[in-house]
Amino acid sequence: MAILVQKFGGTSVGSVERIKAVAQRIAASRELGHDLVIVVSAMGNTTDELTALAKTISPNPPQREMDMLLSTGEQVSIALLSMALNEIGIPAVSMTGAQVGIITESAHGRARILEIKTERIKTLLENGQVVVVAGFQGTSLSSGGTAEITTLGRGGSDTSGVALAAALGAEACEIYTDVPGVLTSDPRKVKDAQLMNEVSCDEMLELASLGAAVLHPRAVEIARNYGVTLFVRSSWNEAPGTKLTSKSERQVGHDGLELGRPVDGVELVENQAVIAISQLPDEPGIAAELFEGLSKGGINVDLIIQSTHEGKSNDITFTVSEKDLAAAKMHAEAIVQSLEGKITTEDSMSKLSISGAGIMGRPGIAASLFDTISRAGINLRLIATSEVKVSCVIKKSLGNKALRAVASAFELDDTQTLMNPEDSNILGPEVRGVALDIDQSQLSVLHVPDKPGTAAALCAAMAEKGIILDAIVQSERVHEDNTRDISFILQKLSLQKAYEALGPLLALWPGAHLKEGPEIARISAVGSGMPSMPGTAGRMFRALANARINIAMIATSEIRTSCVVPAKDGIKALNAVHKDFNLDKVKN
Ligand code: ADP
Ligand code: ASP
Ligand code: MG
Repeated sequence: MAILVQKFGGTSVGSVERIKAVAQRIAASRELGHDLVIVVSAMGNTTDELTALAKTISPNPPQREMDMLLSTGEQVSIALLSMALNEIGIPAVSMTGAQVGIITESAHGRARILEIKTERIKTLLENGQVVVVAGFQGTSLSSGGTAEITTLGRGGSDTSGVALAAALGAEACEIYTDVPGVLTSDPRKVKDAQLMNEVSCDEMLELASLGAAVLHPRAVEIARNYGVTLFVRSSWNEAPGTKLTSKSERQVGHDGLELGRPVDGVELVENQAVIAISQLPDEPGIAAELFEGLSKGGINVDLIIQSTHEGKSNDITFTVSEKDLAAAKMHAEAIVQSLEGKITTEDSMSKLSISGAGIMGRPGIAASLFDTISRAGINLRLIATSEVKVSCVIKKSLGNKALRAVASAFELDDTQTLMNPEDSNILGPEVRGVALDIDQSQLSVLHVPDKPGTAAALCAAMAEKGIILDAIVQSERVHEDNTRDISFILQKLSLQKAYEALGPLLALWPGAHLKEGPEIARISAVGSGMPSMPGTAGRMFRALANARINIAMIATSEIRTSCVVPAKDGIKALNAVHKDFNLDKVKN
């Protein structure tokens, strides 16, 4: 049986006319001989409207009742679409998440899919029916054994579609939406954004979690892990859209469809060096000058982290391969001399990284990595986070010990544990796409003790409350009382919870306190060719400097570079970087 899963988003089923047009489109696919499972979202802005309705009754409604309410949106569209199909002579039957056996965790509002019982769908398909499934919802079996309606989180219909494709072993999943596919940026913010013909799941996972809302990140995780062939296409025409590619082909098994191990590898790269420059002026152009200078000197910089202190000065820390340390130091000194910054260097360092899909989207993972390393008595010199990789820089002499501890904590076998892997020649552009996220805030914890376990304790406290963190930056400078500052980026909506999570911990650290940053926007560039292309970061910083935009924070990971800029400059920054990397012209 060649099953095809097609998902239609809210705008695509936003009116009766559009529902009828979707029905025609489905009829045409059926003509081609596919067995069709159709997943639909709620019509237009229904989910927003229902959310607003709930708020008129309660500012903080019970999550269970929210799921009860929001799940009705999709139920309207499945029924109408099935009627439209039957009306044009296509036998179709609508099904809620529960009816098709989408079993989820019990966490209301953000439930992950554990299993899909596919028997009922298969029988219906065998009987010649088109099965129209409500996206974004499932059912949990509560502790009392009673089924409850759950929802998967906003944008979750994509996840329903891809999960169904994985569970059914479908030949492909097609996501139909109101844009021609995945573009180099959000066309609502960058008018000359271009279509990508192809994008890797790793790149898409980064983009989706950094603000490219065209796909739900969890849908991309599932596609990546189970090797689902995934397309994003326009609902309005026949163009092929964007194909997402993935290498891995895990089998859907007993692990829990969305719970399967998120970490699938650990690696240690030795002979790294850290260069830290502190007390640089907080003004546009400094990072650009420094990293452009290094790239002109032929030096490939790996991780870069920058944070601003008291709105006055910046610390920038970066890593290079040890063999480049002397040259990098010389270049940095030449640039920093006139600015009166202070440079320190450290050699004999190693970078330990865990890789997988959706690492930061699962708050417990980074916390358990840091906890494992701190339990081994090892201090984290630098941290770099992303959805597909989290890295820590540690002393080389402790590298082996850390590698063993981390491999064992995440139950990784020898084939998944790599020591000084060869540089993989991943082909791809240095920047495939850029994304803007305006829903994040910056929170700093000032004066935390400078000893192993601090970052782990902070992350664990936040993870316990389900708070997703991003860009964890430890300050370079140590205060006179032997404390440092640690800053995070987190969803604005999670700020209140973060205060609650960190309160008890701060009480244990005399003098430690929280400080919220100014309104920020985060702009990120993503590309799988980034690691092998020296100078990408410098070029991005230059584009921002030329637009007179000051960078408050920099955090890089292997295939992404993110900069935090003032909120008011977000769109300008996005356009400047998009243009600088010629994304407005190049088809990739
Ligand atoms: P649907 O209702 O079909 O799920 P969404 O609104 O969730 O549609 O996603 C499509 C929207 O995603 C587009 O209208 C576009 O504004 C936005 N978007 C953000 N980043 C990108 C990108 N890189 N490529 C394409 N669309 C993007
Ligand atoms: N209707 C839900 C939402 O608006 C799910 C979706 O459309 O993907 O978030
Ligand atoms: Mg969507």
